[in-house]
Amino acid sequence: MRLTIHRGAREIGGTCIELQSGNSKVLIDFGLPLVDVNREPFDRESIKSQSKDDLIQSGVLPDIQGLYKDEQPAFDAILLSHPHQDHYGLLSYVNPKIPIYLSQGCLELINISYYFGQTDSDLRNVEAVTMWKPFEKGNFVITPYPVDHSGFDALAFLIESDGTRIFYSGDFRGHGRKSILFDNMLKNPPKSIDYLILEGSMLGRDKGQYRTERDIENELVSIFTDKTRLFFLACSSQNIDRLVSVYRACIRSDRIFVIDPYTALILDKLKKISERIPQFDWGRNIRLFFVPNRYTRRMSKDRSLFKFKSAKITYQEMQNNKGQLVIKDSYSTRQIFAKKRDMANSTLIYSMWDGYLSDVEPFWDEHNVPIAKVHTSGHAYMDELQEFAKALNPKYIIPNHTFYPEKYLELFGNRTKIVGDRERIEI
Ligand SMILES: [Zn+2]
Repeated sequence: MRLTIHRGAREIGGTCIELQSGNSKVLIDFGLPLVDVNREPFDRESIKSQSKDDLIQSGVLPDIQGLYKDEQPAFDAILLSHPHQDHYGLLSYVNPKIPIYLSQGCLELINISYYFGQTDSDLRNVEAVTMWKPFEKGNFVITPYPVDHSGFDALAFLIESDGTRIFYSGDFRGHGRKSILFDNMLKNPPKSIDYLILEGSMLGRDKGQYRTERDIENELVSIFTDKTRLFFLACSSQNIDRLVSVYRACIRSDRIFVIDPYTALILDKLKKISERIPQFDWGRNIRLFFVPNRYTRRMSKDRSLFKFKSAKITYQEMQNNKGQLVIKDSYSTRQIFAKKRDMANSTLIYSMWDGYLSDVEPFWDEHNVPIAKVHTSGHAYMDELQEFAKALNPKYIIPNHTFYPEKYLELFGNRTKIVGDRERIEI
């Protein structure tokens, strides 16, 4: 087999890995970069006006023959690990004749992102996989494994060909609401792995406090006991684990989680995957504010908004019950409260990656609203990476999705095999 990491060998984001066995090829993930060549945040808007050839020239698109729309397809499959744009965000350039394999949850979330114009990836030739069930593509046998991650319904893949077994971890952790998947993997790992392609997002990051998703829920419960305060909560509407933690904390502290139509639609679409995901019509602890933003307008236009009417909460109702609410933050929501001068005795709970905080901090500072950070990472901590590697016991570990591949040597010793971007190796 031949392995090429087109991008991701020494950066987080833009993940793209190619495997070749004889005349068969598969691609694993095809993500948007998160950083540019200077490690500055990647400008997604700037690429929209550029041609495919320009983007290959500038290195945004990997130079891969037989992948793009105007070429004869040379790939048997694209495997998608999870619905984060740094793993799928460049798919709109790909020849739609190449079939895409992904989880049902991943498909739903990418479709929603497309519907709201957050991605150009209009997935057509797709097949939802069955967990743990091997399938054949060309000379490959591929087995999807569900993993615990902040991206919903995330997968790792076991890929076999020619007697060689590769395990691609995707993004994962052991401390989320699906930590049982991590525990089970440690107890019953896939055997005889030759190469483990292992994510290392947390390497080199400030470790912070070790928190599980359950710790987050408990922390929120203790914060919510203060009934004199109105809480805004900033988190991703696609981080389902976190929405569940917030909702459960609201039940435990008898508060109402006020979500927006965009969030309600996501939860509704995922109902068929798990009936434990909170829904807009679950009663007294969840309501909807029809915040006037582009998402709500989009849903109003095609009448999908109508479905959620029964759970609607008006601004007046929110104003009268401030001490009982946890309002999911959005740009428009906070602007309305600020305009009406209803921000006194409020707290923002910041429950997402630190990197976005500087965007919103000035607003809350200006309105004298204190910020409480309550968050845990979607990625494995150092000890989780080590436990995982110990259980799978591969011959080699290939760093991926990390800014610090050299640190793998400290964690895994001489089993580490550092591969550069675009370096083609025989395995
Ligand atoms: Zn991810």
